[in-house]
Amino acid sequence: MEVAVTHLQRLEIRLTGRAFVGYRARDGWRQPLQFYAFRCPVHGYVEDYPHGYAGRLECPLCSPGDPSGPLVTDGGAMVDGLEAVPVRA
Ligand SMILES: [Zn+2]
Repeated sequence: MEVAVTHLQRLEIRLTGRAFVGYRARDGWRQPLQFYAFRCPVHGYVEDYPHGYAGRLECPLCSPGDPSGPLVTDGGAMVDGLEAVPVRA
């Protein structure tokens, strides 16, 4: 389910971590939300809407419907490989 992104959007994702792709509505939503395309290290370009107060984006394929899924980007530029660094307990 990799989404198609334009050259400009790829550039924007590279620079800011996300690119606005439009408003989308899902079943049960009262109003459409802003969707952004971004790059999942596993699935390539995917799109999602911001979750939580931090507005983080999650790959819908890595974490379908799971709000506690892996954090893909936190609104800043994504650094390749950064999310693979283990966190010390
Ligand atoms: Zn993914």
